[in-house]
Amino acid sequence: MLTDTPTLVLKAGREKSLLRRHPWVFNGAIAQVRGDPQAGATVAVKSAEGAFLAWAAYSPKSRIAARVWSFREDETVDAALIARRFDAALAYRRMLRIDSDAQRLIYAEADGLPGVVVDRYADVLVLQLTSAGAEAWREVIVELLAGRFPGAVLFERSDAEVRHLEGLEPRLGLVRGRLPGAVLIREHGLRFRVDVARGHKTGFYLDQRENRQRVGRHARDRDVLNCFAYTGAFTVHSLDAGARSVLSVDSSAEALELAREHVTLNELDPARCEWRTADVFQELRRLRDQGRRFGLIILDPPKFAPTHQMAEKAARGYKDINLTAMKLLEPGGILATFSCSGGLSADLFQKIVAGAAWDAGAEFRLLARFGQAADHPVSLDYPEGEYLKGLLLYRGG
Ligand code: SAH
Repeated sequence: MLTDTPTLVLKAGREKSLLRRHPWVFNGAIAQVRGDPQAGATVAVKSAEGAFLAWAAYSPKSRIAARVWSFREDETVDAALIARRFDAALAYRRMLRIDSDAQRLIYAEADGLPGVVVDRYADVLVLQLTSAGAEAWREVIVELLAGRFPGAVLFERSDAEVRHLEGLEPRLGLVRGRLPGAVLIREHGLRFRVDVARGHKTGFYLDQRENRQRVGRHARDRDVLNCFAYTGAFTVHSLDAGARSVLSVDSSAEALELAREHVTLNELDPARCEWRTADVFQELRRLRDQGRRFGLIILDPPKFAPTHQMAEKAARGYKDINLTAMKLLEPGGILATFSCSGGLSADLFQKIVAGAAWDAGAEFRLLARFGQAADHPVSLDYPEGEYLKGLLLYRGG
């Protein structure tokens, strides 16, 4: 091996997580930086005793000071390694046989490519790079995408907040080709328009794809309340499944405008729709004061707890909306409640919801648990990648 390769030497005992193939090195675990690695450079990570642990991308500004490319000493970190990871990720998606032309093709650590996210929306690929290591391989990644998807448009959405933590400036814009007037996708036979330049995440909540279908199934002949509706994906799935009515609430007027468009795009009945641009916390109380009742309520809030430190405040938020929603649910009704907070465990989320049910004075039965769609895989070595959880609950009589 090269003797002049920059090396991170860990403090004694801090190699444990790497030995279990966890892909992060925190800066507090580093005893010494040998050589003069630049941000994004490949470094060797070694134990205090000098044993090789991993090849990783160095990120001096971040608390996560290195992210692992490979745990094998005999593997070289080069364009070929990135290509192998790419092809493995694409093969995995083919195996899934997802019923949609909108999919997450690369999901960072879970696909062995820390900091790299690629979403596909029909013929448009959206690239998001969020770590110094990923940034260093940008040209290689762009070329790979061009090679694997000839003719596809490539748009970059490297404008996620987390880039700041890595000392990276935001980058947003077209990389290759021209954006069509509207990016149209098809999910379980339903159509949506995705704003890849300005929409949330890379434009659409792909992680809820399978859950939308499973929740929608319960909408038939029910009055539905869709809270945090964004561009109405749950609304459209509910209408398509035969909902009597759907009231959609979101604080973004712009998102709801696109949601309305989605109703007509799918030739569904706008007369069965009600729209409210409002804060969900307040709107739930208003609906309660008006004596409204619903047969299916969907709660899909933004992440209240991005980190563990914020879990307590987040817990109050989840309790509040779940409690108020439960009171709006008619006996025999269904509540689909979600949390995408990485800082809150599925176990704690269920406890919060159980507490809300207790306070609401109603008995609920657990019909199903939800997670993120399988194109957002969870590696057993990297449980932090699991963030979305949900409960499907039936309110007894
Ligand atoms: N269910 C959606 C995704 C929801 S994302 C889907 O399947 O596509 C969360 C949404 O909550 C965003 O659209 C955001 O605008 C909205 N939001 C955030 N805080 C809110 C609040 N306090 N009241 C109402 N909407 C809110």
